[in-house]
Amino acid sequence: MKSFQVAGIDISTCHFINGERISSEQTLKNTSPIDGQFLGDFALGDTKEVDLAVNAANAAFPAWRDLGPHGRGEILERLAKLIEDNVETLAQIETLDNGALLRSHIRGVMPRAAANIRFFAEWASNNLKHEPFETRGHSNNVSWDPSGVAALITPWNAPLMLATWKIGPALAAGDTVVLKPAEWTPLTASFFADLTVKAGMPKGVFNVIFGLGEQAGAALTKHPGISRISFTGSVPTAKKIARAAADNLTPITFELGGKSPLIVLEDADLDLATTLAVEQYDNAGQVCLSGTRLLVHQSVADDFTKLFIKKASLIKQGDPRVEETQMGPQIHKDHLSKIAGFVERAKEEGAEIVLGGAPNEHLGGLYYQPTLVMKPDTKSEIFREEIFGPVLCMQTFTNDDQALNMANDTEFGLAAVVVSGKREHAAKITKNLVAGTIWVNCFFIRDLRAPFGGSKKSGIGRDGGTWSFDFYADVKNTVIAPNGWKE
Ligand code: NAD
Repeated sequence: MKSFQVAGIDISTCHFINGERISSEQTLKNTSPIDGQFLGDFALGDTKEVDLAVNAANAAFPAWRDLGPHGRGEILERLAKLIEDNVETLAQIETLDNGALLRSHIRGVMPRAAANIRFFAEWASNNLKHEPFETRGHSNNVSWDPSGVAALITPWNAPLMLATWKIGPALAAGDTVVLKPAEWTPLTASFFADLTVKAGMPKGVFNVIFGLGEQAGAALTKHPGISRISFTGSVPTAKKIARAAADNLTPITFELGGKSPLIVLEDADLDLATTLAVEQYDNAGQVCLSGTRLLVHQSVADDFTKLFIKKASLIKQGDPRVEETQMGPQIHKDHLSKIAGFVERAKEEGAEIVLGGAPNEHLGGLYYQPTLVMKPDTKSEIFREEIFGPVLCMQTFTNDDQALNMANDTEFGLAAVVVSGKREHAAKITKNLVAGTIWVNCFFIRDLRAPFGGSKKSGIGRDGGTWSFDFYADVKNTVIAPNGWKE
């Protein structure tokens, strides 16, 4: 078995197929965004390995389906507990792999990964019910039946958290799984596979294929042996996956990008508004939900800007393993160049940069400064496209209609933040805002019972509670007649 020591832990660099570690001829070098440290040569899968994994998952499906929600729940509960027992280790290796803050991984992200598994297992046992109803004496009986093999494709910005957000409901629904994690962040998926063995999960129920999107990912999404595709990532990739899924009419769910608005009304508490605005730099701006368009009422814009710059200037950038650090590096040099490119082109077009605007020269490496672009043209790419870095744009408005029009004038619809001191005023704005999630005077409160997903180009479908099972399961109605019985 090929493995590599990361933070003192043995991490296999091979695929996990039918409970076995399988290597590939081709490998991809994995390095840490923190300091370029080598983190192993990971297998690069293609059609052959994808076939093996999908076949294994199909072979394991009937027995997993027949275990029922309670039988599966026992194994999933052990898995959730194992994640909790390994929070520190998972946090260490995830931070090395994607550069996000260690303390966030320990206190929030990894416990949440465990919750993702436990919550959906419990929901399948306790909440997935629909009262029978009658039609002319016939009873209608709704069930959520396991559908087959779910192909799960995930990005690098919150690797294990986003993977378990799919793995939890898919396995709880009775599907078996083939996961393709992002090529830049394979570590926690590999460690997680070992935890499924310790939890006693039968062989073939959970499989991981490492590899490039255009090879392993493409082979997986066009495979006729899968019953579902759940994808989190960018819009251009989603379009390719939709085309691949079309051939087999495989059902898809997409959680995609955003260019969400954070609206500060004239009656807002500016201390709260600026604190929430600074939080949009979380995870070095690599958060799909970030409110990257700050839309501020003209009458409070000057005060807002001064306070925002004062607070954002205090953000401590540096090594994400250090407790005091508030912002780590970007994920990869290609991603850093993409972010820098957006800002450079905005500068060439005359945009005013009032904070940051360049890589952090003092730190070097992959660090980019928190940046605020003041009043760019609302038609410019920096105001319209997802940058996925620590770059916010600010615009002003003079009335509610203008704020709403500006907020909705985007191809995305993932999230929105509204800051106001008056409930009715906030409600007037939220009513016609187009977004899957709206936060009023808060940010990032997420409950697994709530629907989550994007409108417009930010996604297709909703996850959370029963919405997740509506996707992973085959929802069935069995109509039973009152007559015809011989017993
Ligand atoms: P990406 O689309 O480049 O890659 C995501 C995954 O898709 C990776 O595993 C990649 O290997 C795979 N992939 C790439 N090409 C493929 C293909 N042709 N077929 C199948 N799979 C393929 O996205 P990224 O850069 O890794 O992630 C950033 C994006 O993810 C941003 O747009 C961000 O907004 C979005 N995101 C959305 C959410 C959400 O919940 N809405 C959460 C996190 C990230």
